[in-house]
Amino acid sequence: MCIFCKIVNKEIPAKIVYEDEDTMAFLDINPRNKGHTLVIPKKHYETLDEMPDEELAKLMKAVKKVVEILKPLNFDGYNIINNNKPAAGQEVPHVHFHIIPRYQNDGDVVKFGEVKKIDLDEVEKIIKQ
Ligand SMILES: [Zn+2]
Repeated sequence: MCIFCKIVNKEIPAKIVYEDEDTMAFLDINPRNKGHTLVIPKKHYETLDEMPDEELAKLMKAVKKVVEILKPLNFDGYNIINNNKPAAGQEVPHVHFHIIPRYQNDGDVVKFGEVKKIDLDEVEKIIKQ
């Protein structure tokens, strides 16, 4: 059983900030910023595209709810991040959305890579095959 499923089953303690029938949110134990929270479906799915639409919709509603719950932290903005598969930086193979509160001038909390020269016509051709 994966570590997030163990948190859902309360076999591993976590700082739970929100929970309903289908979803759970808890503070990330390796926070990138104050209030960094993970929102997960209680049912185990590895990646977002494996989730049925209705369950994904519930998860996204929970993400929004948790943003509201975190507002007492007085952040100035926030990032929502979802990584799928190790190549994309997914560390736990159970779908999760990161909510990372952002504060003015808080540095390189979340960073996009460099802009790459990519042939957009070629990409379009591949996906429209
Ligand atoms: Zn799991």
